[in-house]
Order: sequence, then structure tokens, then C-alpha cells
Amino acid sequence: MARKETDGNISARKKASAKNREFAVVAYSFLALFVGMMGYFIYFQVVLSEDFINNPYNKRQEIFQEKIVRGTIYSADKEILAETVTDADGKETRRYPYDNLFAHAVGYANHGKTGLESFANFNLLRSNISTPEKIAGELSAVKNPGDNVVTTLSVALQQTAFDAIGAFRGAVVVMEPKTGKILAMVSKPDYNPNTVSEDWALLTAEDNDKSQLLNRATQGLYPPGSTFKILTTLEYIREHPADYESYQYNCTGDFASGNAKIHCYGGTRHGSVDLKSSFARSCNTSYASLGLTLDLNRFKSLCDEMLFNSALPIDLLYNKSSFVLSPNDADSAVMETSIGQGKTLVTPLHMALITSAIANDGVLMKPYVIDHIENANGSTVEQNKPAVFLQLITQEEAVILQDFMHAVVSDGTGKKLKDQIYDAYGKTGSAEYSTGADSSHSWFVGYAKMEGKEDIAVSVIVERSGSGSEYAVPIAKEIFEVYFQN
Ligand SMILES: [Zn+2]
Repeated sequence: MARKETDGNISARKKASAKNREFAVVAYSFLALFVGMMGYFIYFQVVLSEDFINNPYNKRQEIFQEKIVRGTIYSADKEILAETVTDADGKETRRYPYDNLFAHAVGYANHGKTGLESFANFNLLRSNISTPEKIAGELSAVKNPGDNVVTTLSVALQQTAFDAIGAFRGAVVVMEPKTGKILAMVSKPDYNPNTVSEDWALLTAEDNDKSQLLNRATQGLYPPGSTFKILTTLEYIREHPADYESYQYNCTGDFASGNAKIHCYGGTRHGSVDLKSSFARSCNTSYASLGLTLDLNRFKSLCDEMLFNSALPIDLLYNKSSFVLSPNDADSAVMETSIGQGKTLVTPLHMALITSAIANDGVLMKPYVIDHIENANGSTVEQNKPAVFLQLITQEEAVILQDFMHAVVSDGTGKKLKDQIYDAYGKTGSAEYSTGADSSHSWFVGYAKMEGKEDIAVSVIVERSGSGSEYAVPIAKEIFEVYFQN
């Protein structure tokens, strides 16, 4: 019995000790699991690369979506541009309170992702709330809030540009030359990101020629028309640094060489012009004529330096502008290219960058749309700062072009911007894309200054409208007015 009892005692002690061990194993396992889970979670949040999360083919994006409520996208003045709303059943809906207004810049996240929703995906699905808050969220099985993206976009300027284009197709980019901040980016026709899923079949139908999903501001490739005279002028000045001011030409309204004939817009005869007045009054025949004197290899190099045929420093989807010209080309190609026709194609964004660099004494700042990232409690976790991308042209060249662009407003095709509370500079363009009645896209690129405010640059294109001075300049004017009056 005693032995049995002893055995029993030993056995009971063993059992108790086994139970303790079991309990310890369970407890430690649970702790290990918990720590592991948290570690994994934090690892996901902190260590894994942006590319890893952003890769749309990565299944693990879904893991983030299960753990994090997608963050909010704000305008510069903290208006909500995109937010996730969760209903009583836990169903999440991405909402865009401004409907079509920010369609292309902000994009959508409910039928694939585009715009900011795509390139800031990493930030929106990452949570920088405190670790105790994250753990509390994990334990209560409540999703943690993702970080918020505060953009550089201005609701007032976006609305102004959007309304000003009206029913036309086209695009507007507004930016600060000194910082590279993009203040507005509009593309028309547009779509409603709230209903993009429902509208998908219509938006992508083969017989839909509107291409609403295309962000014309960054992806639309257009002939630059006379806005390209900025580059032709620069090449002429580089080839004639000492005597470009003594350039003279007598415009009779048209100019022919070989089989090609170039007209001035609307049949205008500009008479005797120098380089600056050729630019200010946008004399096509003067530029076609001087184009034939240019060193085409150097001209091609200049355009490559000005980011034609090359990548642009922006995270949004865009198309590269193209410039094609070689010494073997016929006179007609050289003449057309010199006035922004021919094969040259640009995006409105690219023209905004060139214009901004001129306004900023030759220095191109890296354009950006995200001002900062903050956590759900409003603390900044990342701040974008203005950064120089490139000295695009010399300061001397910028000063000459500034003077020429000022002449466009004081005594040329941009007179509608004269005598305002601000001082405006620019270049108009009417880019012919076919030989019909409404066959011109109207362009304006320019910038404006006023004491006490940052300068702003704009690039405006209105498709199939008419002359730049008639359609694009008034849009720039409305944007300048709203900006400088507020
Ligand atoms: Zn002329």
C-alpha cells in the first residue's frame, strides 16, 4: 500500500508537474505565437519593402487589406478626397466625396488602382499608430487605421480648372515653380471614381472614343504647336549668343520651301519682326524660316536635354514626349517641327515642367503631389521636401525666355493677361492636328507672379477648340485670378 501510495504520490506529483509543464507549454506557446504574430505583423508593417506591398500581383496585399483600414487622401487644406467608410456589417466602401473632380489625380482603388491610390498604396495600407495601439487592435480583432496621405492639391484651383475647361476635352496642370508642388491636375473627359466598377464596361467599350480613363495631363500626347517655339527660340539663341537680337524677318503671311508652305495663324501678315516679336506674336513663317538655318543635331540634343524622349521625374503614370528630327529630313519636316507641328508630341505635364524651370531661373524642381504622410492620429511620419531635379537651362537663358514670355502678354497673343493684379508670362499655341474647321488644339503655358505669393505655372490644352489666345488663355486667367485673390 505504502509503495502504492508512494507510487500514487509520485504519480500524482508527476501528473501535477506534467500539468504545470503542459500549462507552461501552452502559456509559452501562446506567448510565442503572440510575439511571433506581433513580430510578423510589425515586420510586415515596418520592414517589408514598398515594392513588395505595392506589387499588385502580390497576394499579401490582401493580408494588409484584412488587417488595415485603407487610409484617407486629403487635399492640401485637409478636405477629404478619398476615404474608406465601414458599414455596420463591416463592409468597406471607398468613397470619393468630390466625384469626378479629382478622378485622374487621386484615381480609384475599387477596380484595380490608379493615380495616387496606386502609387501611395504602400502608405495607405501601412499603419504608423503606436505599437500598443496596434497590439490592442490585433487583440480585439479590430482593423488598425492606415496612414493618411496629405496632397499638395488645392480644391479651389482644381475646381476652377475643371469648370473652366467645361465641356471641352483637355487638361490642366498647375504647379509651383520654386517647390515643384503640383496644385491642380485636371483631365477631361472624366469619370466618377465612386462608380468606376459599375461603369467599367461603358468606359472601356470599343466604340467609346472619349478615353475618360486616360489622364491627359500626364499621358495625353499632343503636338505642342507654337508653345514649342520656346525650344526653337532657345536653340537659335544658343547658336547665336552674340547677335540673336539682330535677327530680322519680313512676314508676308506665308513661307514656302521645297514642297512645303507654312502660314501664319488666321492668315495674319506680321510684317517686319525680330526674334522677340516673332515669339510674342507667334509668327509661324519667321520660325519656319529660321528653323531651316538650325543645326539639327544640336537641336535634337537640346530637346533631349529638355526631357524629350526621356523619363520624367514623377510617380504618376505618364507618357514620354517625343521629338524626332535628323539632318536628312526634308525642309517640310524641319519647318513643321520648328513651329511645333510635325512628329513632335508632348504631354501637358512636360510643358508645365519646362515652363516652371524657366520661371525658376532654369532650375527644374522635382514635381510632387504628396506633401506628407501622417498616421491616423495626425502625426507626420514622412514629409516631402522640395528637391532640385535638374538645372534644365542656364540662368541667363531663363532670363531671356522670361523676357520673351513677358512680351507675349504685354504685346502679343497673351494680351488677355495684361494689366492684372499679378504679372503674367507665357506662350500660346494652336496645334493643328488635321485640316478641318475645328482642327486646332489650343494651348497656353505660362506663369504669374505677385508680391507676397509663390509664383504659379500652368499648362493648359483644350482639344479641338481653336486658337490658344481665344480658349486656353482665359482658362489660365481664371486660375491665376483664383490663386492670387485668395
Ligand atoms: Zn507671321
